[in-house]
Amino acid sequence: MGEISLDRDTKIIIHRGENEIGGTIIEIRTRDEAIILDFGISYSRRKKFYDPLYRRPRGVDELIRLGIVPPREGLYTTWLDDGEYNENPETDVIGAFISHAHTDHIGLLAHINGNIPVYLGHAAHLINNVYLEKARRERYSLKRREDIEIETFRTGDVIRVGSFRVRPIHVDHSIPGAYSFLVETPGGLILYTGDFRHHGNNYRLTEDMVATAEAEDVELMITEGTRVHGGTSMDEESVYREMMKIMDSYHGEVLIESNARDYDRYVSILRAAAETGRKVVMTDEHLIYFVRGMYRDHKLRRTLERDIGDPRDLVQGLVPGGVEKRRDKKKDVLEKIMDDDGFTVLGEYRYDEDNVLLGFYRIVQDIYDKGEDRIAIISNSEPFDEEGEADEARLRNWLTVMGSPSYRIHCSGHISMLDLKKIVERIEPRRLKVVHSEYPELVSRFLGIGEG
Ligand SMILES: [Zn+2]
Repeated sequence: MGEISLDRDTKIIIHRGENEIGGTIIEIRTRDEAIILDFGISYSRRKKFYDPLYRRPRGVDELIRLGIVPPREGLYTTWLDDGEYNENPETDVIGAFISHAHTDHIGLLAHINGNIPVYLGHAAHLINNVYLEKARRERYSLKRREDIEIETFRTGDVIRVGSFRVRPIHVDHSIPGAYSFLVETPGGLILYTGDFRHHGNNYRLTEDMVATAEAEDVELMITEGTRVHGGTSMDEESVYREMMKIMDSYHGEVLIESNARDYDRYVSILRAAAETGRKVVMTDEHLIYFVRGMYRDHKLRRTLERDIGDPRDLVQGLVPGGVEKRRDKKKDVLEKIMDDDGFTVLGEYRYDEDNVLLGFYRIVQDIYDKGEDRIAIISNSEPFDEEGEADEARLRNWLTVMGSPSYRIHCSGHISMLDLKKIVERIEPRRLKVVHSEYPELVSRFLGIGEG
């Protein structure tokens, strides 16, 4: 747990997410009050004890005992054994500011003390609601919390809580609605970048953040330092162009597999398909909900229509039925919801040489049964552990028996070290703290500004 003092009374405590990627919880405190930046759960810590199918956490006490979340008093609600929340204790925490809707930054929300107001970007709130819409009312889940008070913000808002003033500024990341925070404290100005990059479709948003911070006297910059080794110099625009090339020159179905939470990639895929006259069939119902959610929001709809036209002409959902009863029911529910907005949901996979099949691996056996010619695009990062390697090997084996070659086309959601160096040189913070990184020392050394 890292601790930095700005003056006698103002302290920054990094509870989680310092020498690791994700699970970020940063506390900024004065003598008698505190705010929290991000409230995430670490994938790698959680994975050590739980898996999504068979073993799930039983309340927050268990997560604390296992060291997955920090034992900070006043942060959490208390749960009863039947999975209903019980009561919210008194607390000195007067606000929780969430930078974006990735689980490793927002995933603890189900457990937050209901006396803490939660501040969330407008689009992040929308995405969170998409998750909730399709989530079940499981024990200890966010769906059971009716007491959490969420206020949404946009760039330009100034949020005053106690002796803090928080200014959210949009940044480019792999998900819409990602923010950095400029936090005025009695001990000086803090810039927390959240997760960000400068090579995505929305790099101008990051430019806005840097320009704003540049004009300020930043005492401490807390930056992410995720992407240290093995990255590419590819940007999202070139991902889109490469995909377009393949979709254009290949006459047959294009299969794509990509990271479930990389929403900007979906937009690139949709753009490339729209440009080459293909339709996109999506097997991930979460994603179908997401596109519909974007479509329902005025501002996001305008962006979507600018990039791909009317999404209802381009995108179809696919929930294969017939195999299992359960799946049939799922399709019915989805169909009903999507129908209201004029989206199509298919119940069966059918080969179409003009289609892009997004999330093909879920139905790979149905595809295998049909024969036909296909090519695949793997659009996520290289596996970084044994589990990931095994998953990738299985996917390749299926492609091999289907006779489909594959390409890897991907760029990261995180800032490159060279871009970060330029940004730090422009903002000129007095002090620097690297979080969300497996190599924080390397990153600070490379950036050339000493820690706290
Ligand atoms: Zn993220």
